[in-house]
Amino acid sequence: MRISRNAFTNLAVSMIGFGLVIGIIFPFAVAAVGVPVATALTPWFFAFTITAGVLVGGINILLARLLVRPRLSLMARRMSDVEEGLRVATYTGDWTKCDPEECALPVDSDDEFGAAVTAFNRLLLALSESHRVESRISDFTTSMSAVLDVTAICEAAIESFRRDLGAAGVAIIGDCAGELKVLASHGLSHPDTLIESDLVRHAIRSLAVDSMNMPEQLVIDAAVATLRVRNVLVYPLVLESTAIGAVVLASSEELHSGARALGPLFIRTLTVALSNALSHQSMQQLATRDVLTGVLNRRAGLDWLRVEFERTARSGRPMAVVMADIDHFKSVNDTHGHLVGDVVLRAVTDAVGEVLRSDDFIVRYGGEEFLVGLPGASAAAAEAVSERIREASESCRIQHENDVEISVTLSVGYASTSGMTAATEMDLVGAADEALLIAKRTGRNRVVAAA
Ligand code: GH3
Ligand code: MG
Ligand code: MG
Repeated sequence: MRISRNAFTNLAVSMIGFGLVIGIIFPFAVAAVGVPVATALTPWFFAFTITAGVLVGGINILLARLLVRPRLSLMARRMSDVEEGLRVATYTGDWTKCDPEECALPVDSDDEFGAAVTAFNRLLLALSESHRVESRISDFTTSMSAVLDVTAICEAAIESFRRDLGAAGVAIIGDCAGELKVLASHGLSHPDTLIESDLVRHAIRSLAVDSMNMPEQLVIDAAVATLRVRNVLVYPLVLESTAIGAVVLASSEELHSGARALGPLFIRTLTVALSNALSHQSMQQLATRDVLTGVLNRRAGLDWLRVEFERTARSGRPMAVVMADIDHFKSVNDTHGHLVGDVVLRAVTDAVGEVLRSDDFIVRYGGEEFLVGLPGASAAAAEAVSERIREASESCRIQHENDVEISVTLSVGYASTSGMTAATEMDLVGAADEALLIAKRTGRNRVVAAA
């Protein structure tokens, strides 16, 4: 029965009304069962039973208010607090006012109240879980968009796969100029073998997620030997219907459903970030590297030289430049053809690269002319390195058509700030170049110091 919009008013009217009706009926009922009419149907007895009926109704409604109202009020208050907390959280990210531990209500009955409170507590948990997932996705997206470097992106992604998806072993595979490479990995002892694995190849070919549950008695795969793998998931990284790589997640137990649901969302973000980073890397490569030899091209090399020249000058260390030119290279081309000449150029560059330290850098300065930068090298050190460079070329044998062996020599000139005054890096280059000319003029296959 609905008299007003207040449930307790409705209840009060119903209970008191029911007491009134009982109070009116009661004298007739007792008369019917034998109580003398003169006693039962008197105004005093009517007044007595009606008062009793109304009183019982009134006490009932009082009890109902006492027992039910506080619990309903508490629930309403808590819901309103959580609602307010949610509004704050949406804009500030501060979820403390909706924390299930703080806001949950005690379940102290097995009735509809208990059910309502349980449902409220579950709702809180679901909200908190949804927030957790949302913030993980948001953190992941932020970390993926913060950098444009392939290594940094892979490291951030691996960290999230381990923390948020519970993966113990991770490998990120990328397509670098048509060749699959393991860009980064964690927890896998031979990640490179994954490139050849059927699971990875199949995922990349079919553009579908591949998963494999390892039988418990299975001998552990050589690619993932450091952990007892129960489950392997391979996600292809698909962009415009093409796989640009894959992510392998290995875990010692099957990934829980939450992680499985989160995985594809992470993968989608990683795909875009990695694709951008790989494009950026190859553009950088194209802009700064010599296509034939892979070493720095002249423009990038001179930029690098300037940076290193200024850096060593600031720290008070010397800096040396070596110029090397292949002797009679024209005759290699004339005798064996330009393609063989290219092979020789590459071989000499590799041989020179092998005798350098990690800080040194090699630049293809001209056709068959190289500049080598030696940060921190005095004139004596530069002479030693120049000699090593000359020897490296002299002892390098390039096999041509099985029976022909080609070798070329280098004329080398060097200059160091420890042996001359150089205002700019180009002063060093000029001095080393002059020394190189002298090496050419005085017989080739030799090292000459700048005057
Ligand atoms: P020198 O000892 O005086 O330096 O004699 P050289 O023959 O090495 O010098 P020259 O300047 O007469 O010839 C350089 C040759 O290097 C000519 C050119 O065709 C060749 N060359 C330059 N760049 C490349 C290249 O990328 N590939 C090939 N195969 N040859 C190249
Ligand atoms: Mg030459
Ligand atoms: Mg030359």
